Amino acid sequence: MSRWTRCCAALLLLVSAHLSAEVRSLTILHTNDLHARLSPLVDHHGGFAYVAAVIRRERAGCTDCILLNAGDIVQGSPVSTIFHGVPSYEISNLFGFDVSTLGNHEFDWGWQQTRKLLEIAKFPTVTANIVDDSGHLITGEPYRIVRVNRLRVAVIGIMTGDFHFLTTPKLRGQWHTLPPVETARKYAAELKAKSDLIVVLAHITPTEEREFLSSAPEVPVVVSGHIHTGMQEPLTHDGRIVVRVKGYGEEVGRLELQVDTDKKVPVSWKWKRIPVDPATIEPAPDVAREVKHWEAEVSARVDKPLAISKHAFTRPEVRKLIEQAMRDETGADFAFMNYGGVRDVLPEGQLLVRNIWDIMPFDNRVLVGTFKGSQLPPVVVGDRKIDPDREYTLAVSDFTAANQSAREELGTTGLEFPRDAGVMRDMLIGWFRKKKVIE
Ligand SMILES: [Zn+2]
Repeated sequence: MSRWTRCCAALLLLVSAHLSAEVRSLTILHTNDLHARLSPLVDHHGGFAYVAAVIRRERAGCTDCILLNAGDIVQGSPVSTIFHGVPSYEISNLFGFDVSTLGNHEFDWGWQQTRKLLEIAKFPTVTANIVDDSGHLITGEPYRIVRVNRLRVAVIGIMTGDFHFLTTPKLRGQWHTLPPVETARKYAAELKAKSDLIVVLAHITPTEEREFLSSAPEVPVVVSGHIHTGMQEPLTHDGRIVVRVKGYGEEVGRLELQVDTDKKVPVSWKWKRIPVDPATIEPAPDVAREVKHWEAEVSARVDKPLAISKHAFTRPEVRKLIEQAMRDETGADFAFMNYGGVRDVLPEGQLLVRNIWDIMPFDNRVLVGTFKGSQLPPVVVGDRKIDPDREYTLAVSDFTAANQSAREELGTTGLEFPRDAGVMRDMLIGWFRKKKVIE
């Protein structure tokens, strides 16, 4: 059930102390990490046609509403993988985003494709801190000023400083990030005189969200994305606020602000997370038509029976299945799958090839290397007994091999994986097909 969160008795005092200032209302509707989940999820929530329906219902008759999207529109379903993100961007043109920002996954088919996605978008996309070696911005513009209810809302886009670990050198080319908080503060200072409220639209980590609150007093509002779990309550500090909803189109956020146009800060806020539940709303017909068209393009390839699962599998359990499949199919002694790369759960009952695309939308390859027991990373060994002098084989994804020092990965450097065992998704489909029954 959605529920309003309210602040703050102290702010009432603030309001009365500034009766001369004009206070105007602003409503920010927001989404993040839609991840190409065109159709509803295993839990029956979400689906682009239902996301659009919720957005339109919330927007109907609203004179102070804007709609922001905090990155990762693509990557997460077969249609997105096969058509390199194009369908998600084409359909997103029907949502009416006032401003969007890039997520790391917008780079999953290389920066040239990122450019192509930006060309497809009929809505502005801003990222202030992804630059090339000569300082040019990949999005062209670092911010947008949106005018609504006689307010000028300056929206600055920001990408996580982890961008480096979330892509590979080939995918990002010469594009790299400038420090998120520092860059946002620079633009915020510049925009203060030209706007009535600064909003950072961010695809960042929870640590960076807290950094914004503690170290960016120029930024009163952050609309965030990247982590898919959403927040129970907004993060707040000194009257500043960060909000983020669930990914995969499971929720739309609604942040209602009263903005003091003199001080250029919100004097009060209410936030609610609106569930996108197809049982409670009719799909937006134009979006449903597009979803149907794109799903039909891939249905023959992915909507085929594959295996039976004896129970529903959580993401940690799916991770174990993937590691088992990697060991079985390559003959490796050990396998490691990074948890962030496991993109869905598995339902109980009939599994389709589509389910494997949903858990593994990436075109990752499986690589195998041979190492002395003493070289194996602890995260791989776990509590298994190993002989430090014996040789063992280890299977990982090419993404893990390229980012082995990153958090969530191997916590090591310099391991070489010379054997290429093929595309991971194909390997998983083959393994599930042979297993027939998954317990
Ligand atoms: Zn994401």
